[in-house]
Amino acid sequence: MIDKQPTLDPQRLLVLRTLLGFTIGGCLFFGGLNVARGVYPLAAVEFAIGLFSLWLFFWITRSPTPQRWLLIYLLLFFSTMMVAIATPQGSATIFVWVFLIPLASHLLLGRKRGLVIAVVFLTLAAVIYFYRMNDQPQLMAVLPIANVVLCALVLLALSYAYEYAREKTEEQLQALATTDSLTGLPNRAALEPVLARKHAEAARDGTPFALLSMDLDHFKALNDQEGHEAGDRALVAFADLLRKRLRASDMPCRWGGEEFQVLVSGTDRDGAVHIAEEIRTALEAISLTRSRNAPRVTVSIGVAVFPDDGQAVAELLLTADRRLYHAKAKGRNQVVASPPDEQ
Ligand code: GH3
Ligand code: MG
Ligand code: MG
Repeated sequence: MIDKQPTLDPQRLLVLRTLLGFTIGGCLFFGGLNVARGVYPLAAVEFAIGLFSLWLFFWITRSPTPQRWLLIYLLLFFSTMMVAIATPQGSATIFVWVFLIPLASHLLLGRKRGLVIAVVFLTLAAVIYFYRMNDQPQLMAVLPIANVVLCALVLLALSYAYEYAREKTEEQLQALATTDSLTGLPNRAALEPVLARKHAEAARDGTPFALLSMDLDHFKALNDQEGHEAGDRALVAFADLLRKRLRASDMPCRWGGEEFQVLVSGTDRDGAVHIAEEIRTALEAISLTRSRNAPRVTVSIGVAVFPDDGQAVAELLLTADRRLYHAKAKGRNQVVASPPDEQ
């Protein structure tokens, strides 16, 4: 699941700045034109929007709430468009701007919010059109109206379809970037943000969580004797064992090589040790390879619990890692969950 980020992604930023650039140029041009035509209120509004757009062009990358500014800009842009098309002095061709609505709203707001905003303003534009063109029979005939409505609907559907496909592609890329291709487990890039979130949550409401740092024992020997592919299959089998033994709320992750990390939610030290022991004994009881002569793979586990073993995530990771290597030093195939002097 992709998080709603407080920052704008580069694609939306580029779309916004392109639109802002045209808005600034357009407001200057039409503002000047309206001054010359004596339509001062509209000219004043256009100049004000031009200035606002210029300010937003630079502010958008510094704002802590860029998504909100994006919505404000779009609502302002579309509302001005509505006022402009409703102005009796405006030319009939001013309505072509309406075709920008579906495209701009989908590109800037995404599939769902984009559709809602586009439908609202397209409907409003249609009402204004019928109200303004009431006295022009050639523009109120079925054919010209059908042309305009169909064209707007096609643009709406295309914009929606484009955003839908883009969102799906983004989800697929995100999944690829956060999944370990060999085992199918989340990778380090996936665990880190979840860990940061869990840590913030736990710091707020005091629920404990634990980190289990795991490293398979004598894995190099398995690779050397049975080959790299057998090593790969063993890693996949261990990942399956983790998936089977853990609860849905726990998050196993391939940290790198033959090292794994498990985030266990809502668990104190005893609970974490219990789970770690379960995984260790489950692996001890099975063979990760088909070959009888292959070295038996076991696992060493270091446990760190929030908040007792550290306040910061980095501290917890370090403690779990230190305990893991203590488990190795003690002979491997064991769980270490406390400092050496307490064991
Ligand atoms: P220890 O008990 O001290 O952990 O010993 P070890 O042999 O497991 O540790 P070492 O770090 O010396 O070796 C880890 C091995 O894991 C070496 C590396 O080739 C292997 N390895 C890392 N990633 C993969 C992988 O994706 N596939 C396979 N087949 N082997 C891997
Ligand atoms: Mg290792
Ligand atoms: Mg190892």
